Amino acid sequence: MTEMMKPFEQMTDEDYADLGLQSGLEIHQQILTEKKLFCRCPAGHYSTEYDAEILRHMRPTLSELGEYDGTALMEFKTKKEIIYQINRETVCTYEMDDTPPFEINQSALEIAFQIAMLMNYKLVNEIHIARKQYLDGSIPTGFQRTTIVGVDGFIPYKNRNIGLIQLGLEEDSCREVSDIGHRRVYRTDRLGMPLIETVTRPEMHTPQEVADVANILRWLVKSTGFVRTGIGSARQDVNVSIKGGTRIEIKGVHRIPLIPLLIYNEAMRQRSLLLIRDDLRERGITESTFKAETADVTHLMTSTQWDPIRWALQHNEKIACVNLKGYSGILSYPTQTGKVFSKEISDRVRVIACLTRLPNILTSESTEETIGSHVWNRIRKLFSATSQDALVIVWGNEQDLQTAIQEIIIRAREAMIGVPGETRQALADGTNGFERILPGPERMYPDTDLPPLEFPPERVEVLRKNLPPPIWERRTRYRDAGIPNHLIIPIAASPRALFFDRLIEANDLSPKFCARIFFEKIVAWRRCGLPTERLTIAVFSEFFGKIVSDPSLLPNAERILRQFLTSDESLSIIIEAFSPISISHDEILSALVDIDKTEPPKSPQIEANIRYFIGKLMKRFQFRIPAKTVLPIVGEFVKNGRRS
Ligand SMILES: [Zn+2]
Repeated sequence: MTEMMKPFEQMTDEDYADLGLQSGLEIHQQILTEKKLFCRCPAGHYSTEYDAEILRHMRPTLSELGEYDGTALMEFKTKKEIIYQINRETVCTYEMDDTPPFEINQSALEIAFQIAMLMNYKLVNEIHIARKQYLDGSIPTGFQRTTIVGVDGFIPYKNRNIGLIQLGLEEDSCREVSDIGHRRVYRTDRLGMPLIETVTRPEMHTPQEVADVANILRWLVKSTGFVRTGIGSARQDVNVSIKGGTRIEIKGVHRIPLIPLLIYNEAMRQRSLLLIRDDLRERGITESTFKAETADVTHLMTSTQWDPIRWALQHNEKIACVNLKGYSGILSYPTQTGKVFSKEISDRVRVIACLTRLPNILTSESTEETIGSHVWNRIRKLFSATSQDALVIVWGNEQDLQTAIQEIIIRAREAMIGVPGETRQALADGTNGFERILPGPERMYPDTDLPPLEFPPERVEVLRKNLPPPIWERRTRYRDAGIPNHLIIPIAASPRALFFDRLIEANDLSPKFCARIFFEKIVAWRRCGLPTERLTIAVFSEFFGKIVSDPSLLPNAERILRQFLTSDESLSIIIEAFSPISISHDEILSALVDIDKTEPPKSPQIEANIRYFIGKLMKRFQFRIPAKTVLPIVGEFVKNGRRS
């Protein structure tokens, strides 16, 4: 086969153009409401405690066209027990059962419209609720209620616009707690919370452009102050295809900086899968000549010392082998950074046959020390396999083993089509793994529980008036106000930006100073583990109010806030303690004499000594005397040879 792709760091824009890379984004962002979208349960109340558990099994039904949806069939094959942990405070019979919905949450709807306006969407004038099928168990009713608020929007990027397909308002799904073997556990507190979904056109040409656009979209929605922040409140899906490949959706990207590497790895995977397909064609392997044989090889393995198989034997599991005729070299073909084609097979075995203990397969192309060549020889003999063939060994209980064998054959056969349609899961190392078979296209159908809802132009106009300025406008304004470059985006994208704007507009405060306190110090303090969540808008209001009325507090501003974070005292008591005191010239002088006696400076330099004495004095008077009062006294003292 042809040479490998360049390492990630060496890829150029031209390389991606040659690959025909196309990539788009789906941004999911929880919006900030008190209640959920279609019931009156509270939103954003997360807890690990639960009052009850509900067990469900998923069962596929035939669609109206008489076909099984790919996802449905897959979920059925997994024979999962789905457990929902429910807490009576955060969930009701609407989310868990078929209780009809309440009217849509109006404040969620208004926020969705406002965000749609910021993204230049064409707004709908009537809300139609639809049901979107979800068969993985993450939504107990099997469908999500969703509505489209705007279509055909755009955001400016570089010298062009990036098209946005649609903005949806929908319900969030359950939080997954664990997924081991045949048991998947969900928490239901997040279920039904309002979420907006923005879908871009695949108009980004390099992985970095995708990350840039993801950032702009995230900043834009965050800057409104209308959305939730914190872990899990925003998730991205990235879709990727290359020339000749398939549009693959990578789900659950939590960190934007990971996007470029994820896209690189998916581009590489698709390129490799296409090369594998071509190779198989050249070998003359087609749908009709494809051949796979299976056999029970438990009896050939009884003396193996390799841990995974020894463990399986100790637990009375069976061991099977699949011989893939003519597949030699395919299983070890590199597909992503540090991964080879057999990982595609292992993933299917893990997800669909629920053999979650890894490694779950062993191939004849493994380079690691595993089961010894004499065992391989005996297995080859059993199949009369040649050096052209490739073997996959798999182990498990009888039922899961049968599913696993089928999945190994299915995935090996799919190598002939190149890139099979799947959704994939982002992994922390920048690669991705199989998540599920692509659902069929008929996932949406109208919801008959709720009538269409008119959204009149007058209501749109009121919302438009209260719209915060888009991030690109703020960016220019902050730049003009002299705010340091590295703080401009964090401020423009912050939900505190509105407060910040009002603050510097209404008061004679330096934007630079406020920006530093508000967006730089606070981050530094959070990193030191200080409880910065105590610095609420109310605290900041009080703090800046005091600073405005008494500018002499200004030099101690950071110390005041820091002390507030490290002590239990109220802000007003701390401010009181830092308020300037009047100290006479003589008191300062005698303090200087005392410092010189007890802890004299070591440097012979006058300038260094002046700084030294000022520092000591400030500490001694707890920073409550202004430096400009102290400076001339210290200067005189030092220059006079430290005699009072
Ligand atoms: Zn509810």
